[in-house]
Amino acid sequence: MIFDVLTLFPGMFDSPLRESILGRAIKQGALEVRAHNLRDWAEGKHLTTDDTPYGGGDGMVMKPEPIDRAVAELKEKAPTAKVLLMTPQGVPFCQQHARDLALEPGLIFLCGRYEGFDERVRQTLVDAEFSIGDFVLTGGELPAMVMIDAISRNLPGVLGSSDSAETDSFADGLLEYPQYTRPAVYNGMSVPDVLLSGDHGKIASWRREQQLLRTLQRRPELFDKVALTDQDRQVLERLSRELES
Ligand code: SAM
Repeated sequence: MIFDVLTLFPGMFDSPLRESILGRAIKQGALEVRAHNLRDWAEGKHLTTDDTPYGGGDGMVMKPEPIDRAVAELKEKAPTAKVLLMTPQGVPFCQQHARDLALEPGLIFLCGRYEGFDERVRQTLVDAEFSIGDFVLTGGELPAMVMIDAISRNLPGVLGSSDSAETDSFADGLLEYPQYTRPAVYNGMSVPDVLLSGDHGKIASWRREQQLLRTLQRRPELFDKVALTDQDRQVLERLSRELES
């Protein structure tokens, strides 16, 4: 998968993409991230990429022409790549988007700065607009990196077996069960006996119950989108009663 990123600060992508799982995956060729400086498509003596807003007001707005030229050039090499605009006004990015976008042959990320983009950019050049949460950042580079990281975990060959995503939160729509490692007793707190029992059936049942409990306590709205088994429902009803009493 090739991720093209249009940004005024391509250097922001250097270090995060050198480290750990993504660094390894890039070295192995499972993905490629190309951060392009939008200024390379700017014109005029000052290579301007922004201008004052029509109607007045504070801040600057990113001009449409450099973005238009940049996207057109990137699309010559990757005609089927989807163009994704980073904005707090976009669709809230979630795990299902990460899975779906991992199936695309290529993605082009537009990272805003200042007051964001001229409205005509979103009207003509963009396939989808994404937000990484209901807060405003100074630029779209961190959102693009967040999305690239989450999407990459779903690409073949990126996660080794030791980093498996199958049991992670949201993999089946629920939060993950609690995890423990050595020592078995830490500061007077013991690892649940079942995890030391070696009984894989009991461990699987305990983990499923803990997933249901965690989700019930922290993110009950997730149950609206999850297909539960009859057994899950029975456990959930019992857990709900126990929490109420
Ligand atoms: N004036 C814009 C608004 O109120 O919607 C916010 C502009 S923000 C200061 C500058 C840029 O940061 C945006 O164009 C966008 O690319 C990025 N950005 C900020 N917060 C974001 C978020 N929560 N999700 C995705 N992108 C964000």
